[in-house]
Amino acid sequence: MSSPLPPLSTWARNVSPSPTLAVDAKAKALQAAGESVCSFAAGEPDFDTPDHIKEGAIAALRGGKTKYVATPGIEPLRQAIADNYSASLGLKVAPSQVIVSPGGKFSCYLAIMAVCSPGDEVVIPAPYWVSYPEMVKLAGAVPKFILADDSTGFRLTPAQLESVITPKTRLVILNSPSNPTGAVYSRAELEALVAVAQRHNLYILSDEIYEHLLYDGAEHVGPASFGPDAVSRTIIVSGFSKTYSMTGWRLGTTVAPAPIAKAMAELQSQMSSNATTFAQFGALAALKEKDETQAALQAMVAAFDRRRKALHAGLNAIPGIRCLLAQGAFYLFPNISSFGLSSQEFCARLLDEEKVAAVPGSAFGAEGYLRLSYATSDAIIAEGVKRLGAFCGRLKQ
Ligand SMILES: *Cc1c(COP(=O)(O)O)cnc(C)c1O
Repeated sequence: MSSPLPPLSTWARNVSPSPTLAVDAKAKALQAAGESVCSFAAGEPDFDTPDHIKEGAIAALRGGKTKYVATPGIEPLRQAIADNYSASLGLKVAPSQVIVSPGGKFSCYLAIMAVCSPGDEVVIPAPYWVSYPEMVKLAGAVPKFILADDSTGFRLTPAQLESVITPKTRLVILNSPSNPTGAVYSRAELEALVAVAQRHNLYILSDEIYEHLLYDGAEHVGPASFGPDAVSRTIIVSGFSKTYSMTGWRLGTTVAPAPIAKAMAELQSQMSSNATTFAQFGALAALKEKDETQAALQAMVAAFDRRRKALHAGLNAIPGIRCLLAQGAFYLFPNISSFGLSSQEFCARLLDEEKVAAVPGSAFGAEGYLRLSYATSDAIIAEGVKRLGAFCGRLKQ
């Protein structure tokens, strides 16, 4: 007679699977079953990877670039990334400070693992990207949330940041432009937050994956632009997924102070080894063939901008919905609190009754909102807004 098997680990039992991927999967399943679904759940550009980037990877495959390479990435790619940051930050970034990882998500996890020990506290402004709290918990650290709602444009104030810091706080995570709100910090706002982090001697994880998806002339500013002390405590994560429509390639990048970069490379050497070798050559083409890359990026940003305005206008025309016009990424985060339903129930009924997929704000730590991605066609936006309007109209009766 055999006794029951031992339980799964505390990590396995406590992790929450990604709710954004779950909604997207449910929408796709309905679609596959023949339903006409308007999905606003996508967390990725609806464009294909530009051809010149694909060609870079294809040539690498044909040329036999199919083996392990140095854990932190191929040298020319790290050099090209370092050169870009040297230019944008106005200081010398060495290739040794650059780590290329299997996805920006993994870059974030390595960064957290490099600076957080069990019991350390990590400040996560809400609404937050769904993976941050889970990653912090997997490192044995403790997430400390602070809500920046639409009254401050979803941007944390220095006083709010100050209010959650304790002697155990080790790290604050900033994400501008933001997933899920699209909010972008101004230079002055960010400088004030960095000053708080400096006063309390915190590390900053700056997730800048949407740095190139900006509208209305908004400027991208990162914490590392505020002088040597800010640079010494900032870990910059970015990647190829969002800017170049390369989500499936799994390529994230980190620029970190030398000791942190070294620690992250060592962690990566035991957890994954290098990011896919031939994919890195595609990324190299993205950075080297600048004209083609810029043209593709500009076309994508122009399409996103048009859809952003259409979705924003459509949402605000629905009685009961209030939505800010965000200036970055490809999401809007409308306030639906006037309907008196939890965001979870609102989304479940919206999908059930109108076949419109959206992610509940509660998944991002902000009840009373929805996340809508406009990385979808103009036609879907028009039809989806119509259905959402009908749904909201019934709720208001
Ligand atoms: C998409 C995303 C990432 C990283 O995506 P990868 O596909 O893993 O490169 C990181 N942070 C945020 C906020 C994102 O939305």
